[in-house]
Amino acid sequence: MEPNSVSSRQTDPLLLVSACLVGIPCQYDGGSCPHDQFQALATQGGVLPFCPEVAGGLPTPRPPAEIQGGDGHDVLEGQARVVNIEGKDVTAEFLAGAQKALRVARRWGIKEAILKARSPSCGVGRIYDGSFGGRLVEGDGVTAALLKREGIIVLADFI
Ligand code: SF4
Repeated sequence: MEPNSVSSRQTDPLLLVSACLVGIPCQYDGGSCPHDQFQALATQGGVLPFCPEVAGGLPTPRPPAEIQGGDGHDVLEGQARVVNIEGKDVTAEFLAGAQKALRVARRWGIKEAILKARSPSCGVGRIYDGSFGGRLVEGDGVTAALLKREGIIVLADFI
């Protein structure tokens, strides 16, 4: 088979990437945080952009939310919750979005994800502490935690 024949080309997405990183305006404030590298990859079909908060049923724009009482792992275990700045519990939507991200990753055989730093869904390693005061603590967002637990390599975008 010719190495560059159509049937030998890799056409499936290789990376799951936070949708806001490729310029999709899905952030809570209706904005995005496009990253040249991921946008270039997306143009080539090498990434699958995904926003777990929108997939979980939340509108854009939406009130910002943070995890209170722990991190995404604690949310998955029912030990913490996600609350928006208006005091509404949005844990169910965050869990639904995380489960959809996992289903999409499995559907496409994705082994690696690059997710937006500090988000209560996508944050890897550091997230806001739940006080809406701009303070960071160690921990993962809900989607990052679930993907990690299911064996997917999860990296932060470091922006
Ligand atoms: Fe970006 Fe993730 Fe927040 Fe969606 S949930 S806007 S993909 S950081």
